[in-house]
Amino acid sequence: MPGTLSFDDLKSRVSEGAIDTVLVCFVDMQGRLMGKRFHAANFVETSYNETHCCNYLLATDLEMATPDGYASTSWQSGYGDYVMKPDLGTIRPIPWLDGTVMVLCDILDHHTHEPISHSPRAILKKQIERLEALGFEAKMATELEFFLFEKSFDEIRKEGFRNLEPISGYNEDYHIFQTTKEENVMRPIRNHLFAAGLPIENTKGEAESGQEELNIRYDSALNCADHHSIAKHAIKEIAWQNGHAATFLPKWHQDRVGSSSHVHQSLWKDGQPVFYDPSEKLCQSKLMRHYMAGLIAFSPDYTYFLAPYVNSYKRFSKGTFAPTKTVWSVDNRTAGFRLCGDGTKGVRVECRIGGSDLNPYLAQAAMLAAGIKGIEDEMELSPPTTGDVYEDAKAQDIPQTLRRATETLRNSAFLRDVMGDDVVDHYTRAAEWEQEEFDRVVTDWEIARGFERA
Ligand code: ADP
Repeated sequence: MPGTLSFDDLKSRVSEGAIDTVLVCFVDMQGRLMGKRFHAANFVETSYNETHCCNYLLATDLEMATPDGYASTSWQSGYGDYVMKPDLGTIRPIPWLDGTVMVLCDILDHHTHEPISHSPRAILKKQIERLEALGFEAKMATELEFFLFEKSFDEIRKEGFRNLEPISGYNEDYHIFQTTKEENVMRPIRNHLFAAGLPIENTKGEAESGQEELNIRYDSALNCADHHSIAKHAIKEIAWQNGHAATFLPKWHQDRVGSSSHVHQSLWKDGQPVFYDPSEKLCQSKLMRHYMAGLIAFSPDYTYFLAPYVNSYKRFSKGTFAPTKTVWSVDNRTAGFRLCGDGTKGVRVECRIGGSDLNPYLAQAAMLAAGIKGIEDEMELSPPTTGDVYEDAKAQDIPQTLRRATETLRNSAFLRDVMGDDVVDHYTRAAEWEQEEFDRVVTDWEIARGFERA
């Protein structure tokens, strides 16, 4: 598999004239790639060292608004700069764009060059370090589900996001014929991402018209999050190049199944999976039971990091394969947490709560922190649930609205302890702002329901 490029490789390719553009990017709160396009000659000469961006980029929303209430930046403080510090281990070809490579950056304070604590990459790195201090490495995989539409983003926007037509006419779960019809988009997605150094496993049709899934082989938590962000970006860009729209909105229609991002997790030590213990039931080690106990107990606290918008909560509905309960089960897709690979070295836990809109750095960081807490406190895992978990009245509900998830985030002593008050306050404000923006809008539904009949 072609991998990342060394800085020396990049310099040679630039001098040969094969590369002329470097995308210098970081990942924002929403999980988007933001940054600048550098002329490659400038990048290899000076900008590889650092560049700058406005610090509102980690305190804005999807619309690039400037909400009040953030301690880190504001109109009062003049919206100064952050340092974007390229991580030269992440340089990779971007084969779907001519002459282009990409590098991911860490975000640092403009004056002290210390990491910015609420930057998603810094948040994940902190939890990886805590796990390493316990002697473990996490291996993670995030599945990317999304919908492809017949028309392009620009056409759909100009038509007011109405009469949306998915690319296929029927539920295409595991279908080969229907997905053959989509190969003009999906084949370049697989092949270009593979050539960009992402260990692509497969794509498949998913359980709705026009719904797709991309699987990337599990990797270290940081690589997994980097891969997810690049893949999500590439899917939109390659769909756009082919005249189609790809959306990661978790629930684009109330009568359609939503899109998820399941997160598979296992811990390793010295290259061996430590969730595996052949002497235990299901080969589920004691360590894994503690990790899962923490993961489940604190899931209401971190649900916001798996479901960050008002729309995210519309996905949690029974009979759609999206969970409603924070319990675990063995190879059962109705529970929030599914034990996969039981009885094998590949035994792992899949969190099914996250939507396709999650930010993988934040989601993985929160889940690692919860698992670490479970290990540190030797928390006891309750027995698995069985059967149709949607109907299990005793099982705890996932917070069912953004409002509830915001309150569990705000009041989480656990997250405040492991992530820091500044980080929790920052994201609580982001969550509140989403709700405030939604609450002031008069929706089509209200008008249709009440215009004549109210
Ligand atoms: P599903 O049936 O949920 O689609 P798959 O068998 O396709 O499950 O695996 C889903 C993801 O799990 C893949 O991305 C794979 O790389 C990842 N995975 C496999 N083994 C492990 C592991 N030990 N730890 C973490 N992720 C893993």
